[in-house]
Order: sequence, then structure tokens, then C-alpha cells
Amino acid sequence: MSYEKNILQAGNPRFCDIVITNRCLLKCKMCKSWQCGPQSNEITLDEAKKFVQELSGFVKEPLEINVMGGEPLWKPWCLDLCSFISEKGFKSIISTNAYLIDEDMAKRIADSGLNVLAISLESLNPDTHNYMRGKDDVFSRVMKAIEYLEKYCGSKLTLTILTIIMEKNLDEILELTEWVNKNKALQNISFLALLETGLVKERHNWFKSQTYKDLWPQDIEKVYALIDQLIKLRKSGYKIWNPVSQLDALKDYYTEPDKFMKDTEYKTHDYIIDLDENGSIYLSGDELGNVRKDDLKQLWVSDKANEIRRKINIRGPGKRCCVINFICAFPTDEEYLQVRTEKNIHLYDRLGFYFKDLNQLDKAVDEFKKALEISSDSQTSRVGLGFCYLEQGKIDAALNEFSLASRLSPENEHVYQGLGSCYQHKKQFDKAVDEFKKALALNPDNYYAHQGLAYCYESLQQFDLSISEFNWVLKIHPDNEYYHMGLGCCYEGLKQFDKAIDEFKQALKINPNTECADRCIASCGESLKKERG
Ligand code: SF4
Repeated sequence: MSYEKNILQAGNPRFCDIVITNRCLLKCKMCKSWQCGPQSNEITLDEAKKFVQELSGFVKEPLEINVMGGEPLWKPWCLDLCSFISEKGFKSIISTNAYLIDEDMAKRIADSGLNVLAISLESLNPDTHNYMRGKDDVFSRVMKAIEYLEKYCGSKLTLTILTIIMEKNLDEILELTEWVNKNKALQNISFLALLETGLVKERHNWFKSQTYKDLWPQDIEKVYALIDQLIKLRKSGYKIWNPVSQLDALKDYYTEPDKFMKDTEYKTHDYIIDLDENGSIYLSGDELGNVRKDDLKQLWVSDKANEIRRKINIRGPGKRCCVINFICAFPTDEEYLQVRTEKNIHLYDRLGFYFKDLNQLDKAVDEFKKALEISSDSQTSRVGLGFCYLEQGKIDAALNEFSLASRLSPENEHVYQGLGSCYQHKKQFDKAVDEFKKALALNPDNYYAHQGLAYCYESLQQFDLSISEFNWVLKIHPDNEYYHMGLGCCYEGLKQFDKAIDEFKQALKINPNTECADRCIASCGESLKKERG
């Protein structure tokens, strides 16, 4: 593809990270950076400057460049890089643990042209902060650093607090928010999601591993309550940096982080450009080239970059890049608050299904009801509520929900499936069959509709039809003893006792405690004997 065509396809980067070292002097519980030994291949100041210089060749907007670590201030030239970033017309941000900020460092920061200094602080409780950060004096050093910075930097520097939402500090975050709000030295507080930072080998369900027990919030309802409170505070003018859209997204993220990563609608496309400590350059999480051998502008408009953009359009950003902590990836309050109602319904529904899957049905019911309070027309919430009632044995209540849901939009297989299950429970098998068939007309692979039909046909003594349905569900779950029992009963009903005995035996093989199986085998045996005289 030609250069001209490519440059038309490429937008401009909106966010940029430069990781200048992976090393750190702290040993935080949620991070593995401190385990990196000395690295010989880390980028030099000249290489970092080359990257910024080349960026300034094609980005004219005042892009924010995040200078990161490990601990970036551990690198002696960190502030020199910030000065260079300013000279090129960009804004620089440093995220730091503040451990190294003494009076002298505060003066140097004031002179560096740095725009934003983001200090990690997990709690106002020194024990919590020091525990999470792995040293006894981190909290006191942060407090001292804030004093020095206020004294020497004044309004030249935006001073912000970064707080990761974790199990340990969950109950202490509101107090911290109040404190930031009153503190004149601090411009705002920004909340971050806890990410997997290489602490576990298996990335799937990483947050459920023992390693994350102290870190990952264990009570999702508490997280929701906290975030709802933070949203209220932001709306009332508190100094909270995250837009409401990002705060809402945090609820989604903490409900199911892997799913959030997969499904997130906040596409970053080609907006994030990263340089890592080894010189590798990334485009929204996918490796693009290396500062030591490549020219950034050429890379930006290369076929490889366009291929990455195409992939991002299909499957979202690469795994290095979790959108949840990028404020710039989220709509502003102005844009978002108009569509928030819909988003909130989705969040309550999501939490409802989460609790339903955990069999915490009362909690699930509460969440679906919250969604319905916002909009009584939410079909997903009605269906969710219906299935909860069904599992709680409240059949009439379930039937009511599914009936209401069917009036909202008839073309929903789950509504018919739910109605079918209700009628099945009420032993109105003809009606149940009609509903299950409607579900299958919309989705021939609806497993629960096939299962329901199998039992309904059996009850209606339409054994051939029932056998066909049991065989369908057995293809999916061949080791389900109940299906073999059902099949056995059908064959018994058709007086095919040999086949019936085979199925009952199969059920016993799968589960030797299968209820009634022995009795059914004996009864079929008797029938066979009679038949054979
Ligand atoms: S201060 Fe930051 S880089 Fe250092 S160990 Fe803690 S989280 Fe990791």
C-alpha cells in the first residue's frame, strides 16, 4: 500500500507511554517489576529523545506522554526527558511511588517543565499503604513529597493521586477521596483498575488465584456501592479525574475482567503508541518496531501498522493494552450521561446474571429489579428475573415475568424457553411444547428447549418424539444419567424392554446412585420374562 494511502488511514496517536525502566526500589504486592534484575539493554536518554523527536515530526497536537517505570524517577535522566518532551510541545506525565522525592528532587521537578505528577497512594491508613507497597516508610515519604512539591512547584504542576481499587483499601477509598478533595496541593484523584502484572502464569481467571486474594475485591457488591458513591461525588464536583463512563466501566471490569477485555466497546484503535524499556515500539498493544532501528513516522504509516489496525478493528487492542485504565479511551461526561441509563441497565443485568451463575438467586433478583426500576421495558432484565424465579420454584412469578417479556418483543428464544419451562412445571405439557417449539424456530440449537421437549413428550407419552429429543441433548452431554433414565423410560413405554434396560444400566454406570435405576431394571426384567412366557 502506498505511503499516501497509509497516511490517510492512520489517525494520530492520542496517548503515548514511554517506559524508561522496568526496575523499581519498592516491592509492591500487585507488581512484579521489582523482581527484574539489572538490565543491560534498557533504552538510553538519546534513544528516548529520538522517539519523541520523531513523534513531533508528525503529531502536532499537544499529546500527553506518560513517562513510566518501574519507578521512572530512579532513572537519573528521567526529568531531562520530561524537559525535552516540553520543548517539543508535548505534555509530560510521570507516575511515581514518590519514594525518591526529597527536597532536592522537588526543586528539579519544578524546573523540568513536567506537567503532571501522579503519585500512587492506596489509602490514608499508613499500614494499608505500606503493606501494599512493601516498605514501612512509603506512606510517610509520600506525605513529605506532597509537602515539598506544594512548596516548590505550586500551580506549575498538576499533582494527582493514583489509587488502585483493591480488596485491602476498598473500605478506605472514600476517606482518601475526601482528603484529596480538601487538600489544596492536590488537583485530583484518579482510580485505576487492578491489572494482572505477570504475578501468575495462567492468565485465564487470574484474579481468582490465591496470589490475588488480598488484592482482588472479593465482594463485587461492595465495589459497585463504592463506585456509585464515587460517581455521585464526581457529579457533585469532587476532584475525581475519571469520567463517569470510566467509573461505570470499572464496575463491568471488576465483575468479569477477562470478559471486559474481550468485549469492551471502548476501542482504542490506533491511538496508543508505546515505547518500552527495551526500545520496542507498540501500536495499541501490538509490537510495531524498535526505536534503535526504525523511524517512527515510517512505522506509523507502514503496511504493518495498517495490518495491526485491521486486527484491532476485529478483535480489540493487543494484550499489553488494557483499555480500562486509559482515561482518554472513555467518553466525556457530556457525551456519556445521555446514554448512561442504557449502560446502567446493562450493568445491573450483567451483575444479575453473574449472581445467578453463582446460584445466589436473591442477590440476582435484586439486581434485575434495579434494572427494571430504571426501565420496566428491559426485556433482558425481565427474562433474567423470570429464570431466577423459576429456579427459586416461584413458577407463577416466573410466568408473569416471561409473559411481560413476550409483550416487549416476541422474537426472543429465551422468552419462549422460559414460558415453556413454566408450563412444564405447571404440568401443562401441550402449552409447554408449543413454547419450546417457538424457541427452536428462532434457534434450532437451543439446548434447554430440546431438553424441555424431551421431558414434555415423555409426560405426554409421545415416546418417539421424546427419544429423538433425549438423543439430541445426549449428543451434547453423553454422560448425563438423567437423560439415560428418561430414554430408558421412553423405551419402557414403547415396551422395548431390552433397550430400556440398556439405558438404565448406562445411567447406573455413570452414577451408581442413580435413583430408581435398579427398580426400573428389575421391572423391565419382569416384563421381559412375562413377554417371553
Ligand atoms: S512502585 Fe510501581 S513499579 Fe514499583 S513495585 Fe510498586 S507498582 Fe511496581
